[in-house]
Amino acid sequence: MTRRVIDDFLLAAEVTLAELVDSLHSSAEQRDKVVATPPLAEAVRALRIDEWLRDGGMDAPALGVFLREYLRRSTHLHDQGFMAHQVAVPHYAAALGDLVSGMTNNGMAIYEMGPPAVALERAMLAWLRGFCGFTEGSGVLVHGGSIANLTALLAARAAGCPEAWRKGVPAELCVLVPAASHYSMARAVAIAGMGEQGAVPLPVDELGVLRVEELPATLAEVRQRGRRPIALVANACATATGLYDPIADVAAFCRSEGLWLHVDGCHGASALLSPRHRHLLRGVELADSLVWDAHKMLRTSALCAAVLYRDAAAAGRTFQQDAKYFRCDVDAERPNLFPLAIECTKTALGLKLFLTVAHLGEQGLAEHVASAYERTSRFHDLIEARSGFRCAYRPQSNILCFRYGDGDQEKLRRPLLAEGRFHIGSTMLGDRRWLRIVVMNDATDDATIVAMLDAIERAATR
Ligand SMILES: *Cc1c(COP(=O)(O)O)cnc(C)c1O
Repeated sequence: MTRRVIDDFLLAAEVTLAELVDSLHSSAEQRDKVVATPPLAEAVRALRIDEWLRDGGMDAPALGVFLREYLRRSTHLHDQGFMAHQVAVPHYAAALGDLVSGMTNNGMAIYEMGPPAVALERAMLAWLRGFCGFTEGSGVLVHGGSIANLTALLAARAAGCPEAWRKGVPAELCVLVPAASHYSMARAVAIAGMGEQGAVPLPVDELGVLRVEELPATLAEVRQRGRRPIALVANACATATGLYDPIADVAAFCRSEGLWLHVDGCHGASALLSPRHRHLLRGVELADSLVWDAHKMLRTSALCAAVLYRDAAAAGRTFQQDAKYFRCDVDAERPNLFPLAIECTKTALGLKLFLTVAHLGEQGLAEHVASAYERTSRFHDLIEARSGFRCAYRPQSNILCFRYGDGDQEKLRRPLLAEGRFHIGSTMLGDRRWLRIVVMNDATDDATIVAMLDAIERAATR
């Protein structure tokens, strides 16, 4: 970079920071809508996308104008009315990590492409493994929970059917997956060559929680049909409800049957940080793999997902390609990460998680998780106490499904989104649609919820 370009960078960065700070103030004071979804063409026009693509030449002042419009139209996670999706309200340290990672662009899956980034990834993986008890294990940071699930499943496949890597997947191979699992799980099974039918649904109760007592009969029946299960999946917690499967009991079953236990903790593994909530994952130390998204409950900007393994040797067998090359390349003091990951060029994902923990402290993050879980339990009581409202269950995490009256809940949600003060979601439980909130923002409090219930009542009478 010439001196001139570096000066331009400073100017552009100053403008960017100023616009971001203004947008954060705006969110804190709820000056803009938390969410707005005008048709796509409107954003194309307002952001002058076609003109910029044709002409180029954006300078710092023009960048400021562009960013103002971009930020105003974005979904505002820092607004206390944001309760719709399981995406972290990021700590600024994580976002600054993204900036540094972007500018250094160290594609660090190879050690020489970013020694400090590799050191941070290793440190953060060890930090996470400390909470789930995989102290002798290993792991890798990847770009999102969906890829994390796929990566772990490939490790399970390598353990249960090592020949699959060279010869392809035998038709009888399958994975036992609770019906309430995130869609990325069934997708991973299909991508791993077992077909959609390779994801054999496990029996769950009316709220989607695994019925452990029915596992022996289900497994016997699956084997009877000539299928060969290589792994069983448990949720910690399930995406729709935020409810946890009983991991200790499932783990005992998997041990006795020689099945690889994969725990999908994308959302809920962070409860391990909170002494008051880690019991929800009791038994997780007996699992073979655990996936954990830092960009959900650990205040880290997307994406930052961990794949964690109890047994380092089993993890190392996942991708058996070019084994000889990998071996001669192994240097414990200068480790390469690509043997464990699908990705080749990899972002310095450990940096932003490290900076988040370094700023908030383990204690601060534990408090963030505990507070979100405890407020959601209080919100449950608030909602239940109000006439016409009903919750689907007592929440275990920061995800809660509820409804108002017996009508179409989407007819309540849509005007709420149009109003733009509250961003909430909805989900199907069984054959009914429920409204769904995920309490991600530290600023979301009782008053937010009361105002939201008022708004829903107004929408219902309109
Ligand atoms: C969010 C989620 C996923 C998907 O993770 P992404 O990071 O969005 O790809 C998978 N499983 C569960 C249980 C989740 O909550």
